[in-house]
Amino acid sequence: MSETVNTFEAQQQGRPTGPLVSGYEVIIGFETHAQLSTASKIFSRASTAFGAEPNTQACAVDLALPGTLPVMNKGAVERAIRFGLAIGAHIAPRSIFARKNYFYPDLPKGYQISQFEIPVVQGGVVEFFLGEEKKSVRLVRAHLEEDAGKSLHEDFVGQTGIDLNRAGTPLLEIVTEPDMRSSAEAVAYARELHKIVTWIGICDGNMQEGSFRCDANVSVRKPGAPLGTRREIKNLNSFKFMQQAIDYEVRWQIEQIEDGHAIEQATVLFNPDTGETRAMRTKEDAADYRYFPDPDLPPLVIDPEWVIQIRAEMPELPRLMAQRFMDSYGLSEYDATSLTQSTALASYFETVAQTCQQPKLAGNWIMGELARRLNVRELTIDQAPVAAIQLGQLIGRIQDGTISNNAARQVFEVLWDTPGERVDAIIESKGLKQMNDSGALAQIVDAVLAANPKNVEEYKAGNSKALNALVGQIMKGSKGTANPQQVNELLRAKLG
Ligand code: ADP
Ligand code: MG
Repeated sequence: MSETVNTFEAQQQGRPTGPLVSGYEVIIGFETHAQLSTASKIFSRASTAFGAEPNTQACAVDLALPGTLPVMNKGAVERAIRFGLAIGAHIAPRSIFARKNYFYPDLPKGYQISQFEIPVVQGGVVEFFLGEEKKSVRLVRAHLEEDAGKSLHEDFVGQTGIDLNRAGTPLLEIVTEPDMRSSAEAVAYARELHKIVTWIGICDGNMQEGSFRCDANVSVRKPGAPLGTRREIKNLNSFKFMQQAIDYEVRWQIEQIEDGHAIEQATVLFNPDTGETRAMRTKEDAADYRYFPDPDLPPLVIDPEWVIQIRAEMPELPRLMAQRFMDSYGLSEYDATSLTQSTALASYFETVAQTCQQPKLAGNWIMGELARRLNVRELTIDQAPVAAIQLGQLIGRIQDGTISNNAARQVFEVLWDTPGERVDAIIESKGLKQMNDSGALAQIVDAVLAANPKNVEEYKAGNSKALNALVGQIMKGSKGTANPQQVNELLRAKLG
């Protein structure tokens, strides 16, 4: 497959050098297997539901019984098209299924049906933020294929169990150019890809159940040198392990090279217990798989009308939604991107923003106070005890001067602990209303001025900090219900 490698090399010409690790540049390309969320398998009618008793969801086709033939699941193709449209790829009007031959107990046919020479989705780009920096990773392709079954090594002593329930589950394998330059960028890419496939509803994204599995191809080189030899870390199913595995692998490769050893192309596994990667097998070449077109399946021909129809039914994509948040709510690109991490978060934000008519404040509260509390309790936005309407009303009460920011935080705390409580009722019962009665406020101001002649003098002598001390006293005197801005104005007026 040296031809492919040269293509990768050519594709990297002119790309900026990434951050160096001990003088080496890190190069990463991803292959991701996303299980498509169809009810039945890609070439049979057996169920794809997770967690059933072993071998209860493998029909004659999945078991490769003689005389059975695969029949393409239209839902899987539709999902592949949706993905292609979401990332701006070319949808091949005609693609081909191939047999990838290898022998393993969990692969009853002795080959996996995949796409090789002509995949259904070609090219495309995934864009995302790494911190505040915008990144884009180019995709080579995304192709349809079937999953294999599972070998179970833990449940039987001295034996291996085979569960073929997963055999034939539809997969979309999404392959990038080696465009990533750090483990952090790789994780940010994987998170973005995860967001896209779940957003458009083609994959449930459950990483623990194996619905979204990433293989990270990692190599290192001196800046400007040709691409180094890569090792492929298989089946990373958590973002945390992904980063750890790549970091370990990068250090390991640099050490090898520094010690004068050449890197050998290999497939490796990450062990979360030791934090190390370990070679599993030397890498097969495409030739080892003896790919050839599957004679049981005709070419996959996609009617352009169907693509148009799917495009029309696509949900608003995260990028476009973020742009709309910038245009119509005046958010920064960073805020807009943060608020479009999931459809649930985006719609929460829109409800808050529309309720309070203060999009910027809405964003700040959601990404600040709310996100912080959700993180601590490991809750998703759907599980937030404070409803979007309530948060919107709360922000509205800051905006119309009823309560201060500080008071709002107290109200939020009550809302968090007692879901369903009414914002205005909390403000009332806790006595948090800002003192907007200037007569009452003026009395407190006079009292504080009289009791703190030293501060008054200092202020008059030009020490502006003395004013802060007076404001503090007045806020305290009003039990925090005075409007700080009003206090400032009153004070300045009184002190001349
Ligand atoms: P396979 O793993 O099936 O042989 P490919 O040769 O198409 O597949 O490449 C797989 C992945 O390896 C792609 O994501 C590609 O970006 C990445 N890759 C290729 N060369 C390198 C390299 N030198 N360093 C890091 N990643 C690489
Ligand atoms: Mg591979």
